[in-house]
Amino acid sequence: MTTHKEGTIIKVSGPLVVAKGMSTAKMFEVVYVSDQRLVGEVIGLDGDTASIQVYEETGGVGPGEPVFLTGQTLSVELGPGLLENFYDGIQRPLELMEKESGAFIARGIHVSNIDREKKWDFKPVVNSGDAVVEGDILGEVQETVLINHKIMVPVDISGKIVEIHSGNKTVEEVVAVIEDENGKHHKITMLQKWPIRISRKSQSKRVPIEPLVTGTRILDTLFPLAKGGAGCIPGPFGAGKTVTQQTIAKYCDAQVIVYVGCGERGNEMTDVLMEFPELKDPNTGEPLMKRTVLIANTSNMPVAAREASVYTGMTIAEYYRDMGYNVALMADSTSRWAEAMREMSGRLEEMPGEEGYPAYLGSRTAGFYERAGAVECLGSDDRQGSLTVIGAVSPPGGDLSEPVTQNTLRVTKVFWGLDANLARRRHFPAINWLSSYTLYADNVSGYWGKNVADDAMAVREGAMSLLQEESKLEEIVRLVGMDALSPKERLVLETAKSIREDFLFQNAFDAEDAYTSLKKQYWMLKCIMSIYNSAQDIVEQEEFDFEELKKLRVMEKVVKAKEIEEGNWDAFEALAKEVASSIQTLKK
Ligand code: ADP
Repeated sequence: MTTHKEGTIIKVSGPLVVAKGMSTAKMFEVVYVSDQRLVGEVIGLDGDTASIQVYEETGGVGPGEPVFLTGQTLSVELGPGLLENFYDGIQRPLELMEKESGAFIARGIHVSNIDREKKWDFKPVVNSGDAVVEGDILGEVQETVLINHKIMVPVDISGKIVEIHSGNKTVEEVVAVIEDENGKHHKITMLQKWPIRISRKSQSKRVPIEPLVTGTRILDTLFPLAKGGAGCIPGPFGAGKTVTQQTIAKYCDAQVIVYVGCGERGNEMTDVLMEFPELKDPNTGEPLMKRTVLIANTSNMPVAAREASVYTGMTIAEYYRDMGYNVALMADSTSRWAEAMREMSGRLEEMPGEEGYPAYLGSRTAGFYERAGAVECLGSDDRQGSLTVIGAVSPPGGDLSEPVTQNTLRVTKVFWGLDANLARRRHFPAINWLSSYTLYADNVSGYWGKNVADDAMAVREGAMSLLQEESKLEEIVRLVGMDALSPKERLVLETAKSIREDFLFQNAFDAEDAYTSLKKQYWMLKCIMSIYNSAQDIVEQEEFDFEELKKLRVMEKVVKAKEIEEGNWDAFEALAKEVASSIQTLKK
């Protein structure tokens, strides 16, 4: 990259560097700071003085040292070779950096974001003479066994193909030449750049109607998130945010996963880095890394790069969405991201808003989640893609009224609320079934009807209302004891207990239990609900003794539903019928 010296540092305050003599610098331009060439970005300009957010440790850098301009905005490189990579917050491959400088990454290392040497077998899907528009697919390379990487016409280019080259190419070799309407020739390589703070273009957004199936029962059945939707997981320390995010990353049915470990403890990210390469995707049986990009910016890494890391991840995710894939992005935790913003804002001496966060916290949060969506991709082939965004939020002390949570709730349509009490009782996932919500239930009901069962939504609603009734009845039991309840009320309590213990409880670390298909979820719940549905009238018979129902041991029977194999739907149906008919024997 060509650079020229422009400014001189006048002040260094942690990740913030102020330089004068920067009159030709532009907002959001990437600069190199000091002769060590630390990567930074201009985030404020006042006359010829620039405020620079530096993405590497600034210790030892001081006034008088130079600043170099690059003329470019902070961008990510997009092309084959992104998948299976571990990146830092500004897309430097961690493995390559380690090779260059050892385990303790030195500063000012400049490595290629995407491998320049590797050759990819490019297979064109257009011919010379074809007319193409921005977003059209020119050809494909098999990036991993799971993902066929589409090489697209870059944004703002359209015209006629004058050259197209198949065969083994590096990302920098020309694969096509497009002549635009002015006769100008554009050389197209497999490598594109995109500024991280600007969302990639699509034709239009669609209403998301397909669920993102995660395999976690409480999420999929009670509070479904749609592919292209946005959800959040707020929860106090230790309630299970990271475990939930990682479980979703492992098992969900998105085709590409971008996982941003943002400001969390290093050992948690190490777990991901060690574990992911070993794991297999339950949907395809292939190693999970074949569809995953990991971005790590742990608490011990520079704070400013944390701010950038979520945008780096988002841009990579949008790029795969544009190819027509269903992509899911997880950010853990967005609170650490907001704290990075707060720290920079403080150093810039901006007017603080609520709890010291900058006044633009709300708009930045909205801007982040709004990049989720189910879209009609650019291009003339009616491709559709989706980007689902799931952000963990760590409110201090679990207080949901704090600004990051509140701003997040304003823009996300799914709230999976983790509850410290449930975690303490070791009920996992510790997601509170009373306070959590989804606004996508209606969206996905058509899909459920077609792919799961006609009554799938009704079974879900039945279960949810029992859980609500249970919480009211518990209040009564606390005040006057179990004896005050009618048999019907006891039936509600017993069924709700079974829903909680046999259905909602799910151990993410048990290989058998960690993933349940949507259809099996339906059948498990249907078996439990068959107790309630068939016993409703029975328990209302005169002088009915609830112990008679308990003696049938139907509750114990439905526990077995979990053990029935996926696909063996007849066995589930038989179990539900068996339970129902055994209850019918109590009819007087
Ligand atoms: P957080 O990120 O909210 O601080 P973690 O995700 O690290 O919390 O979870 C804390 C602990 O809770 C985990 O180490 C694990 O023992 C337990 N846990 C959380 N979720 C589950 C789950 N779904 N299944 C089993 N254990 C869980």
